[in-house]
Amino acid sequence: MYRKLIRYSNKIFNLFDIIASITDERLKPQIPTVKIVAAIIIMYFTNLGSLNSLSQTISLNDLKKEIPSVSTIARAADTMDLEEIRKIGIEIYGKARKSKMLRPCHGMWVGVVDGHEQITSPYCKCPYCKSRTVTKKDGVKEIQYYHEFTAFILAGPKISFILDIEPILPGEGEISSSYRLIERVCKNYPKAFKIVIGDGLYLKETVFNLLEGHHKHAIAVLKEERRQLFEEANRLSLLSEPKVYRQKKTYYRVWDHSISGCWDGYGKKVRVIVSEEATPGRVHSKDGRSFENRVNRANWMWVTNLPCPEGDDIDDLKNTVRVCHSRWQIENQCFNETVNTWNADHVYRHSKNAIIVFLLLLFTCVNIFNIFRIRNIKDRSIKTKIYLIELIKAGFHTTHNPLPPIPI
Ligand SMILES: [Zn+2]
Repeated sequence: MYRKLIRYSNKIFNLFDIIASITDERLKPQIPTVKIVAAIIIMYFTNLGSLNSLSQTISLNDLKKEIPSVSTIARAADTMDLEEIRKIGIEIYGKARKSKMLRPCHGMWVGVVDGHEQITSPYCKCPYCKSRTVTKKDGVKEIQYYHEFTAFILAGPKISFILDIEPILPGEGEISSSYRLIERVCKNYPKAFKIVIGDGLYLKETVFNLLEGHHKHAIAVLKEERRQLFEEANRLSLLSEPKVYRQKKTYYRVWDHSISGCWDGYGKKVRVIVSEEATPGRVHSKDGRSFENRVNRANWMWVTNLPCPEGDDIDDLKNTVRVCHSRWQIENQCFNETVNTWNADHVYRHSKNAIIVFLLLLFTCVNIFNIFRIRNIKDRSIKTKIYLIELIKAGFHTTHNPLPPIPI
């Protein structure tokens, strides 16, 4: 399976050729950058989890000479060119989109943006670490150091595709970083998406205006802090009847309000979509012997500048609510999955540049892996991702020469 994945990456995406364009700023490098990038890609594809386990595995396979040492990889990552790595992502996206490997989300091309905190440790720090003081249960104060970044993904029905990330630097908030990220993503992927969704933080006129400038629509979660809009939407909901429908097990009561004059700074009319959702389910009773029925309720509100539908079509509204909900993909498929399955929170090398290098390369590998899995695995016995990853790992250990074809 390992060889199959390597072959697939090379045949479909030309991966081990295109990574040859990546450079770094080491003086008089003994080992070309492409070898280092290839080693990192092998480490990710085989889910080895750290540079040390890569070097140990390789020494067992007697290929030590072919794989750069841990310190060389780390040093090169300090100065590797991020724009060149991003170009690899753009090329892979282009091929995937052209070959229809990516699908729209409920009929629309939707981008999702959100922030993620990467590491927390009491000792590791660099000039770009963010820090906070935490008081523990026993009253002892401790300084925690961490890095944060914002990520931009393309939501999809089966897989999401991670487009780009941007660090959140010390002294700045998520919005400043995501502003740079959104601008870059709009420039690098001008036709990839039509709508961008963010959580309550993104309900900012700067974000809405920036996206409008690139001919994109925005959706942001409406929270209580935006009092004027929030209260106006609630007032209107009391005065009008919702659309009521059921989808799978969930019952929806949805209002679609058109509101103007309640958002200082933006000044344009917006739609506020209010969705009250009830899903009946069964949970274990407290004594653990039987089940009891319980209704899970959730109330959602979103603000968007999507144009109002022309008719009164309920299917339009149902679809808009589904699109609004696709924001969860960034939490589940991007952050949770890459952290739990791919060890994304591990810091392979603690420097501002290296952290982003490793994440960008990881996301490139995860994108290729996801496409490989849904397009190329026909064997029905391979049901889970974890099983497929184990097969790839096993293939790596048993392959006589696991090195990919690198153009040197
Ligand atoms: Zn740091």
